[in-house]
Amino acid sequence: MNNIENNIKILKKKIQYLLTNNNTESKKIKIIAASKNQSVENIQTALLSGIYEFGENYIQEGINKIKKLKKNNKIIWHFIGKLQSKKTKLVAQYFDWCQTIDREKIAILLNKYRIKQKVPINVLIQINISEENNKNGISIRNYQKLAEIVSKMPNLNFRGIMAMPKKKKEIIKYQDYKNINNIFNILKHKYQSVDTLSLGTSFDIKTAIMYNSNMIRIGKSIFKN
Ligand SMILES: *Cc1c(COP(=O)(O)O)cnc(C)c1O
Repeated sequence: MNNIENNIKILKKKIQYLLTNNNTESKKIKIIAASKNQSVENIQTALLSGIYEFGENYIQEGINKIKKLKKNNKIIWHFIGKLQSKKTKLVAQYFDWCQTIDREKIAILLNKYRIKQKVPINVLIQINISEENNKNGISIRNYQKLAEIVSKMPNLNFRGIMAMPKKKKEIIKYQDYKNINNIFNILKHKYQSVDTLSLGTSFDIKTAIMYNSNMIRIGKSIFKN
C-alpha cells in the first residue's frame, strides 16, 4: 500500500472514530482533498482510495488538472483559493463549488459567468473568523448582507460557509469555532439551501468536527510521505 492510500485509510478511520465518540451533530463528513501542488498521479491515487472531491487554490493549476482528468466524471472540483475578480469567469466555467466568496462583486461575477445550461455553482461564503487583517473572508459583522445577496442569485446555489480558524492558544481557540457554528446555525435556519459547514484542515480535524463541521479540507494528512 502506498502512502496516500494508507493516509486516506487512517483519515477515514479517524473521522469514523470522532463521529461515534464525540458529541457532534454531524452525521457524515465530506472529505475534500486539498490538492494544491499535487500531481495528477497523486490525485488519481486518492481517487482509487475513494476520495472524489478535490480543492484547488490556484486557478490555472486547477484547470490544467480538471482538463487532464476530464474523463473521470465522478470528480467534484472545489475552488478554495483567494479569488480575484478577473479570475471569476474561469471558476464559473470549470468548478462545481466555490468556497471563497467574500464580497458582493465576486458573487455578481460568478452568477454572471456561470453558463446557463450548467447547474448553478455551489457556493460558500468565506468568513474571516479570527478577524485577521490580512486573512481572506468577510468579517463576522458583515456576512448577513452578503448571504442575502448570494441567496438571491439564480446561478449560485448558496450552500453555507467556509472558515479557516487561526492556530491559537487552547483557551481562546474555541471561541472562533463557537462563533462559526453559531453563524452556520443562523444561516441554516434562514436559508433552506444551506447545509454545509466547511471547517477543519489537517491540524484541527477533531475540533472542527466537535463544532459540527461536515466538510473538511485536508492536504498534508492525505498527501504526506
Ligand atoms: C492547503 C489548504 C487546506 C489544507 O490544509 P492542510 O494543512 O494541508 O490540511 C485547506 N484549506 C485551504 C483553503 C487550503 O489552502
